[in-house]
Amino acid sequence: MTRPKPLIAGNWKMNGTLASLPELAEIAAAVREGAGEGLDLLICPPATILSASHGLLGEAVAVGGQDCHEAASGAHTGDISAAMLADVGARYVIVGHSERRADHGESDSIVRAKVEAAWAAGLVAIVCVGETEAQREAGDTLDVLGVQLAGSLPDAVQAATTVVAYEPVWAIGTGRTPTVDDVREVHDFIRNTLVDRFGDAVAGGVRILYGGSVKPSNAAELLGVDNVDGALVGGASLKAADFVAICRARA
Ligand code: PEP
Repeated sequence: MTRPKPLIAGNWKMNGTLASLPELAEIAAAVREGAGEGLDLLICPPATILSASHGLLGEAVAVGGQDCHEAASGAHTGDISAAMLADVGARYVIVGHSERRADHGESDSIVRAKVEAAWAAGLVAIVCVGETEAQREAGDTLDVLGVQLAGSLPDAVQAATTVVAYEPVWAIGTGRTPTVDDVREVHDFIRNTLVDRFGDAVAGGVRILYGGSVKPSNAAELLGVDNVDGALVGGASLKAADFVAICRARA
């Protein structure tokens, strides 16, 4: 199976204002000098600066949303539709991040509806799955991921429109990461689960990202694991130098 083109994605979460745009200018400059060679690059800033971020990054570094509503429009105060994200230049949207699942009670079926909304707006959906520490300690990791994948992914998955991000909840923002063997086991499991449901041709092209405390010092090791097709980077994506160093580690 040929490996899909890796994707390095930054998730800024609820961080960043217009004053943060120089970080993006620095990323854009590094990319012009070849930092992203052979990679797809993505930054998901807060929605408030999505348009300005897109204007600054142009086409070399895509921008994306961190969430979208499952409906196309309507009476949903404070929410943002996938079409609205696309309208200001987004090409991707993260759905089912564990912080959304925990803070907003998002179930697998809501995540699945959001994936369909993203596709309808022409966006690539990055679907997050991951186990809690208690679930890992109980030996339930693969069962939990199997349920999340079954419930969160619609039947119409295509490689060009779907990315899966494995983000162990206990590794997010903690500085802790799974062992390389644990990452390999989970990513192999995710690939095999995709193959069983969607067939080799589709499943082989779906990018499976690792996320959770990726930083310049561990990026090469994590990104070198079989079936790891890139990274979803939180904290370390806020500093251009760190994000670029992670890109260089994979390139
Ligand atoms: C994330 O929340 O998507 C994430 C991976 O965060 P961090 O890199 O900060 O652990």
